[in-house]
Amino acid sequence: MAKSVILRLAIPSPLYTCFDYLPPENVIRSQLVAGIRLRVPFGKGERYGVLLEITDHTDLEEGRLKKALGIVDESALLSRNDLELLKWAAAYYQHPLGEVVFSALPARLRRGGRLPKPGRPGWQLTKVGRCQDPDEMRRAPRQAAIIRSLGGEANGLPSDQLIRELGPCRDVVLRLAHKGWIEERWFPESCVEVRGSEELAVAVPPKLTNAQRAAIEAIRGAFGGFEVFLLDGITASGKTEVYIRLLEQALTLGKQALVLVPEIGLTPQLLSRLRRRLPVSIGVIHSGLSERERERAWLNARRGEARILLGTRSAVFAPLPELGLILVDEEHDISFKQQDGFRYSARDLAVMRGQQLGCPIVLGSATPSLESIRNGELGRYRVVRLPERAGGAAPPRFDLLDIRSSRLESGISRPMLEIARETLQDGNQVLFFLNRRGFAPVLTCHDCGWVAQCRRCDARMTYHLMERLLWCHHCGSKYPLLERCPECQSGALKALGQGTERLQNALEQLFPETRIARVDRDTTRRKGSMEGLLSNIKAGAYSLLLGTQMLAKGHHFPNVTLVGILDLDQGLFGADYRSAERMAQLIVQVAGRAGRAGKAGRVVVQTRHPDHPLLQTLLREGYRGFSAALMAERSEAGLPPFSYQVLIRAEANREALPLAFLDDAKKEAVEMETKGVELWGPVPAPMERRAGRHRAHLLLQADRRSDLHHFLSRWVIQLSTLKSSRQVRWSVDVDPQEMY
Ligand code: ADP
Ligand code: ZN
Ligand code: ZN
Repeated sequence: MAKSVILRLAIPSPLYTCFDYLPPENVIRSQLVAGIRLRVPFGKGERYGVLLEITDHTDLEEGRLKKALGIVDESALLSRNDLELLKWAAAYYQHPLGEVVFSALPARLRRGGRLPKPGRPGWQLTKVGRCQDPDEMRRAPRQAAIIRSLGGEANGLPSDQLIRELGPCRDVVLRLAHKGWIEERWFPESCVEVRGSEELAVAVPPKLTNAQRAAIEAIRGAFGGFEVFLLDGITASGKTEVYIRLLEQALTLGKQALVLVPEIGLTPQLLSRLRRRLPVSIGVIHSGLSERERERAWLNARRGEARILLGTRSAVFAPLPELGLILVDEEHDISFKQQDGFRYSARDLAVMRGQQLGCPIVLGSATPSLESIRNGELGRYRVVRLPERAGGAAPPRFDLLDIRSSRLESGISRPMLEIARETLQDGNQVLFFLNRRGFAPVLTCHDCGWVAQCRRCDARMTYHLMERLLWCHHCGSKYPLLERCPECQSGALKALGQGTERLQNALEQLFPETRIARVDRDTTRRKGSMEGLLSNIKAGAYSLLLGTQMLAKGHHFPNVTLVGILDLDQGLFGADYRSAERMAQLIVQVAGRAGRAGKAGRVVVQTRHPDHPLLQTLLREGYRGFSAALMAERSEAGLPPFSYQVLIRAEANREALPLAFLDDAKKEAVEMETKGVELWGPVPAPMERRAGRHRAHLLLQADRRSDLHHFLSRWVIQLSTLKSSRQVRWSVDVDPQEMY
């Protein structure tokens, strides 16, 4: 089919391929640019697709090619660079391209909604209109008022502003337009974020520490080209100040910047710090916003009106035509990895995006991931360190509390209580960390030993006292609390173990005079409640804070001088080889909440394993020593970052099906060339049954990424043709972060 024009589209569907169509009727070639949407016939219905490229050949038979129905967009929604990144991501994460491309669009545009015309509509005077003297127009006072308003310095006004000044006046406006005195005009979008007056008070920048200055200079030197920096700075070392100075520089150069944070909870704090220092429009994208708010931020970013885009994971795909700097804060955080559907790592894609565009990218953390540390060692990333706290605060002191022979009161040992009491008496804040929400993780029968299990998962139900519920944290099932044991009818049901709800009750008894704030998913479910709690905590409304990892990450509480870690041992013996890394990151992050504003901080850790070697290393040598020890273990075992993994997961209602499919998948692999790739399993998942479905997985590992991907790209397409694949739900997880 030489010289024919064939459109290659990405259309959301479970298929891995692109879809070819002929151009619609009455369309000229110049309207067909990559990145626009088209409406096309698909199966028995219609769908929208994004044009990836125009080609002159197709694998389809000539007669089978259908015509597209019409063009949706006049200009490309996504740039060539955006499309390249998405294509790369689809290939790398082995996810259907159509779904990947559409996941980068705001929901309304995915459904075929029109791209709104940029800016705001309004009116200006025509040449004739400018010659009119409003003072002469006594018999038409409303027309005169409009002429007067439009005749100001600004040369016209947006409609909404005109209405604000003069009240409803559309009829008069149309009359004037009809006369030819005024004409329509588009105005740029107003500043995206309305600034509060308090935030306009521009904060005075601190004098940089030497380490900060060195870091900034190093990174500035790389502007205009691609380079990855690992900003390895201890907690409260002033990483945010480094970000701010780099953003200033990018803005001065006329560039846009992308700032990624792992969780919604961290956006308000960072946003307000950026706003106080950077007088530009900052767009925000995260899942807590409405569809419309997100779309607005996306459009503003695309038009270059938002100069900084701050967001969680999905913001990595936002179109930023003048992008010149990417910052990823808390780069170690696994929230950057999407855990279902299109399982991408926003951090890794950010690096890829930087490489594609040729711009610097900064990965910041007090507890870098082993992957990034390794990349630093290999010279792929340049490491810049901030080894001391900014503003002269000393790092916190660490103490282990051996609780093997202590009696605990609601999970807290006597000495821990004493230290907390003293801290509160001195007028400082105490933070207790317990990474388990609910009242108690286990409800059991004292008489027969029955334990409340989820009916749909291989897991125990968590007891929630306030809601009087048994709640499965894995599948979300809820059952009313039982009065009697279902096995023996005894009324002696007992709650075992500690959750944050129980801890709060206990602390309220122990410290009746003290105001206590609990921060976990249960207390922050309402929109805005997290922000409210955090700002009250900062304002000093609470003296005692307790919470899960939600409280541990990134927040800045100047008056907390004691951090009590109540139960660490679950992290020491996790099933996953990454448990220890996660545990250390969490401890260091929580500990980083202590003594940030010039006050001495103290961290007290309760444990039944005070001699655990990794724990000892962490205390004696800090995260750096700890990560070095862990790195040696990983190297020895040939685990990531010394190898690369892919996890194929399968699940089904019937027990035998997932393993049957994975067995077939493995057989398929053995028949292909698997050079350099090892296959382990299939095995049942650590939690074999979840939400009523049986689960299993097959692990692939290779020393070289290229071997793994070479194999994957051929194999995964084969998998969808297996008969047994149709009886299970299966997925590919490249660089898996969790094995469950
Ligand atoms: P990080 O992001 O590394 O945890 P922050 O940027 O939050 O650290 O800084 C911790 C505290 O130190 C903040 O209160 C910040 O205002 C302050 N700070 C940062 N840089 C300086 C500096 N050069 N001089 C004095 N104080 C600073
Ligand atoms: Zn019983
Ligand atoms: Zn469950």
